[in-house]
Amino acid sequence: MMSPTGPEPLPLLRIAALTKRFGGFTALDNVSVDIRPGERFGLIGPNGSGKTTLINCISGAFRTEPGTVVFRGEDVTRLPPHMRTRRGIARSFQIPRPFKSMTVAENLMVALDFATVTDDFIPAAQRRDTMMSILTRMGLASKADVSATKLSQVELRKMELARAMATRPKLLISDEAMAGLSSSEVDEVLDLLMSLAGQDITVIMIEHIMQAVMRFSDRVMCLDAGRIIAIGTPAEVMANQRVQEAYLGT
Ligand code: ADP
Ligand code: MG
Repeated sequence: MMSPTGPEPLPLLRIAALTKRFGGFTALDNVSVDIRPGERFGLIGPNGSGKTTLINCISGAFRTEPGTVVFRGEDVTRLPPHMRTRRGIARSFQIPRPFKSMTVAENLMVALDFATVTDDFIPAAQRRDTMMSILTRMGLASKADVSATKLSQVELRKMELARAMATRPKLLISDEAMAGLSSSEVDEVLDLLMSLAGQDITVIMIEHIMQAVMRFSDRVMCLDAGRIIAIGTPAEVMANQRVQEAYLGT
């Protein structure tokens, strides 16, 4: 029988019983969660709680043992990072990694090429149009021909997100894109992430700035020492005793 609200949609991403060890240290311990299509999902937790490790397992930078990652119904657990990118998983790095000798436009072209399957030929003019439309969307159009070394911190963060967007993701993962920014810059990046999130793009946002997570997220998950200690609406998670204790401890 169908529930009154209809069947639950298939999860976009299903993480099941995921564990990640570094030597004898367990960074992620039996983490399971479903992310719904179109969801704005906030991931929080004290420093060292395993947030970036989880992202590395989703993007394929780390192999998980054991555990599975299923994306749009396909088990991608054994796929290398570039194959996952081509299936629609994109992440921006906590520490921006631009190609410093290149312009903003060139940085984006690298990302576009990376995500393009080699046998579909795309004319140069069309690639340039795609690239410029992404830069415009990210408020970086005027910086296209500027060297990446000349960008301000907030522009670098936007370029990181632009590079992720260039791979035409279904799932965009932002790892502390707001760290070190002023409060008005935080709002800029937050508005940008809000504008990207929608039916076609699901966003996982890792963030330390609680106001930003609260505003952004449909659901929030809190990790502590590699385990999920709370998951729910932002208000539920913020009110959670274990979450408050985890944050007091840091
Ligand atoms: P967070 O992003 O929540 O701050 P991380 O996922 O980066 O935390 O790290 C979780 C834990 O795993 C930390 O104790 C960290 O030192 C450890 N860790 C992360 N990456 C590695 C690695 N490549 N090798 C060894 N230990 C790691
Ligand atoms: Mg981290």
